[in-house]
Amino acid sequence: MSDQFDYLVIGGGSGGIASARRAAEYGAKVAVFEPKPLGGTCVNVGCVPKKVMWNTAHMAEMLGQANSYGFSVEQNGFDWPQIKSKRDAYVERLNGIYANNLANSNVTHITAYAKFLSANELKADGKRYSAKHILIATGGQPWMPELAGIEHTISSDGFFELEQQPRKVAVVGAGYIATELAGVLNALGSDVTQFLRKDKLLREFDHEIAEHVMALMQEHGVVIKTQSEPTAFSRTANNKISVHYNETQDDGFDAVIMAIGRKPNTAGLNLESAGIELDDKGFIKNDLYQNTAVEGIYAVGDVSGRAQLTPVAIAAGRQLAERLFNNKAEARLEYENIPTVIFSHPPIGTVGLAEHQAAKEYASENLKIYRSRFVNMHYAMLEHKQPTLVKLICVGNDEKVVGCHICGEAADEMVQGFAVAVRMGATKADFDRTVAIHPTASEELVTLK
Ligand code: FAD
Ligand code: NDP
Repeated sequence: MSDQFDYLVIGGGSGGIASARRAAEYGAKVAVFEPKPLGGTCVNVGCVPKKVMWNTAHMAEMLGQANSYGFSVEQNGFDWPQIKSKRDAYVERLNGIYANNLANSNVTHITAYAKFLSANELKADGKRYSAKHILIATGGQPWMPELAGIEHTISSDGFFELEQQPRKVAVVGAGYIATELAGVLNALGSDVTQFLRKDKLLREFDHEIAEHVMALMQEHGVVIKTQSEPTAFSRTANNKISVHYNETQDDGFDAVIMAIGRKPNTAGLNLESAGIELDDKGFIKNDLYQNTAVEGIYAVGDVSGRAQLTPVAIAAGRQLAERLFNNKAEARLEYENIPTVIFSHPPIGTVGLAEHQAAKEYASENLKIYRSRFVNMHYAMLEHKQPTLVKLICVGNDEKVVGCHICGEAADEMVQGFAVAVRMGATKADFDRTVAIHPTASEELVTLK
């Protein structure tokens, strides 16, 4: 005999919890399977502890600049174990809040891994559960390639376990995680080398913005090795790690962090028993309504192979619950114009098309690019002047803004509002008609010539 529910959710991360609670609001009988601390990647080994470390790094930068503003500040070192233990305690508190929220929403939390027995039945911890609707929201995990000596390296999960600050670090990868962690460690005083297999960072993003951040990271001291794909790692007698690449090697690393992408958590789900198919990258095949090929089974979040961002998983999960349990037959997340921030040093805020993507989609004579490179007034009192780059990608006679990109101080907090404008179809003239707020960096975006 199975325990009967209306909605079974596999995975208590961003997407699963959001969908489960929304469904329960409409009276559905819901269970979430999650054997690990609630909150998933974002809370435990992602956005949350990462942002704490980014804030810590930002604090280090501010302290370094404080004397230029007339303060007499002497830096007496940095206590990594202290911030780690406070960060862990914060994450644990969030785990508890998530547990309370589930309980308050009348969602049953089953602390076990679930696997399919059939299209409407799961097994967890020896018990059987069935429901008309089943959501797969199992997220992903760091992808670790099968290279010689890979056991000497760590992933982003391992970064959050480090009890001491590594003095000399290699970061492998060119995406979000590698760029963010390289920036954090460098700002905190580690000696950082980032290994890229191609010629630039963040190739998916606007190239000019990516080149801007890469130049600034180098200026801040990150050694970026391009066309340098590590092929092996080894540990030396002094307990340091060597990175082997391009028939040479760099020695003396205390830690090597692999950040070359993530793979979906699908192994162990026994998907075959339910007839669920994977795409060629191993993600669960699903449509824009999150339907898999099997009726009554859905996928959201990182396992669904769409933008791997917490708000995307949450929004997709909630929209699905609206559709299934609140009679909104057309409810779905619109995947266009998703804003995102890369918490690099300095940060990047971006929404819409990069210049190279717009050039592919529209004839080049229809494109107009506006840009400004300026020094944020934050640097007025400092010797070192760090430039900010802002860029608008506009299309057609009415110059509809299809891309907005910012790299510089405070870009992380600037882009959300501009994302609303881009989503609403704002034109360059709408930007121009908006009265500037002075003196801010944001005003550059409404005064572009
Ligand atoms: P997850 O949050 O990963 O949750 C999946 C859950 O399913 C896990 O808890 C797992 O234990 C559970 N599970 C797996 N298999 C089973 C099973 N068989 N039975 C039961 N449970 C199972 N996104 C942002 O938007 N902003 C950021 O700043 C940001 N920073 C990040 C930094 C890092 C270092 C990383 C790694 C990611 C970051 N992300 C960020 C991405 C974000 O964390 C993910 O997109 C988000 O967590 C995905 O949510 P999800 O619900 O799909 O999966
Ligand atoms: P990404 O997909 O962002 O980047 C990984 C990069 O690593 C690739 O773009 C690729 O760059 C490079 N790479 C791939 N294979 C290799 C290889 N064999 N050797 C060397 N380099 C390689 O993955 P991440 O792991 O950085 O992050 C995963 C996802 O998590 C992100 O896509 C994002 O959605 C999410 N995330 C979001 C954050 C945020 O919102 N701020 C922060 C962190 C993560 P190239 O092809 O140029 O070599």
